[in-house]
Amino acid sequence: MERKAKGTNQNVDREMMLIDGEWVAGLEGRFVAVENPSRRGSIIRKVPRATAEDVDQAVRAAAKAFEKWKCVPPRERGKLMLKIADSLEPNVEELARTLAQDTGNAIRTQSRPEVALVIDLFRYFGGVASELKGETVPFGEQVLSYTRREPIGVVGGIIPWNSPILLGALKITMAITAGNTLVLKPSADAPLGVLKMARVCAQHLPPGVLNVVTGLGEECGVPLAKHPMVRKLTFTGSTEVGKFIMGSAAERIALTSLELGGKSPQIVFPDANDPRAVDGVIAGMRFTRQGQSCTAGSRLFLHASIYDSFLDKLVEKLRAFKIGNPLDEATDMGSIINRRQFEKVCSYVEEGLHQKGARLVTGGLPPNEGPLAQGYFVEPTIFTNILNEWRIAREEIFGPVLVAIPWHEEEEAIRMANDSHYGLAAFIWTHDIGKALRTAHAIESGWVQINQGFGILPGHSYGGFKQSGIGREYSLEGMLESFTQRKSITVNLQF
Ligand code: NAD
Repeated sequence: MERKAKGTNQNVDREMMLIDGEWVAGLEGRFVAVENPSRRGSIIRKVPRATAEDVDQAVRAAAKAFEKWKCVPPRERGKLMLKIADSLEPNVEELARTLAQDTGNAIRTQSRPEVALVIDLFRYFGGVASELKGETVPFGEQVLSYTRREPIGVVGGIIPWNSPILLGALKITMAITAGNTLVLKPSADAPLGVLKMARVCAQHLPPGVLNVVTGLGEECGVPLAKHPMVRKLTFTGSTEVGKFIMGSAAERIALTSLELGGKSPQIVFPDANDPRAVDGVIAGMRFTRQGQSCTAGSRLFLHASIYDSFLDKLVEKLRAFKIGNPLDEATDMGSIINRRQFEKVCSYVEEGLHQKGARLVTGGLPPNEGPLAQGYFVEPTIFTNILNEWRIAREEIFGPVLVAIPWHEEEEAIRMANDSHYGLAAFIWTHDIGKALRTAHAIESGWVQINQGFGILPGHSYGGFKQSGIGREYSLEGMLESFTQRKSITVNLQF
């Protein structure tokens, strides 16, 4: 089938996708509208609605490019990552604005810091590229045995909408620095920042090394997950879709990394009843990203002796939050990504309101009129007197809804924190380091923070326990484990 549109942007309101170094429309010529979630119904731009044939062309381009790319010395590949970082730097503001528009994430608190982190990520992987080395194995004087870290081949990267540039950059840096080629599929809800970043990458990378296909999960994600020439899948998204991805990979024994959902605990000990812990709990809950973070600490386990006084401080701070236009520098918190997600969050709030015994202490259902009704805005919401067994305490809401649960004994807090099918992150608040470390060791999560609620930084081996995922990414070790395969070579020196 021949393409209807090729070249640079054909139309001011349409973006193209990247296949084999060319910016193209989908073969079927259809587009998906990207809505601005802070202004319901307003379309920012359209992106190609790729189908299986587009995906197939992108995968074949990546397979062809792999033959040369795998032979480029790692240090040279790293230099290209550094060049991409330099080229991204002057575009921070434009990228941050695009991101704020398509995700609804506030520019000051979220979008600008996300782009800054992306540049860091390219520099980090550019710097560690020459660490793609193997080992020698001591089999004796007459034998030389060594290992090589070889790339895997074509990688299929599928990412969600909540921090799209960061997650896109993560797949690009790890897969491509390691010598693989990549077909990246961003979410149809927030593809614009990813496409802008890809334009910068494409100026430095040979055609076919990076391909970006846009569209819907069923039409474009499924064929990528199932493509027989894709040898490795790296998926970030919901646990539900992650299970499908793992099943598709199992059909052909393709390697898989999964970064999935979470319902992470925050445990506050009685000695941490102070404003710094309150700020930290707010940061850990990712309220400034509307709680739309896989690592959001959305179950707050407060010691009974400080339960009311800690909550009073927390509510006071959250009521001072400025919610609204993500492009306004004064805004702390933007909007939920789309109508579907907005309705899902509202249905959990409704459930909390009807749950016998639960008490709403701030936030609640969004207003039907006024400025906040123009977008998918939900205020920071806290329910107290919650039981860990209830749905709002067990399921990932992916919105600004925090549930507070009291505890008396340390073991009880740890038991409730671990009573979840997720295990991504955890936050512990106490000045007693012995207690903090004892708790950290007992928690079933891939990442435990003590007295801080930060986001991930490059160099950090990040990933989940239980149904929060498989594999580690973000670090040199993550790149080695997830994006290379070891080959052993053994030479008999006596021959
Ligand atoms: P999602 O699973 O619905 O979609 C993620 C991506 O997969 C999108 O690009 C989507 O188009 C695609 N997709 C959907 N169905 C598919 C299918 N059947 N086959 C192939 N691809 C398909 O997730 P979302 O709603 O975009 O994002 C929110 C979820 O992502 C939350 O559960 C959150 O916890 C998770 N998340 C995890 C991490 C992490 O690092 N662990 C980071 C960010 C988000």
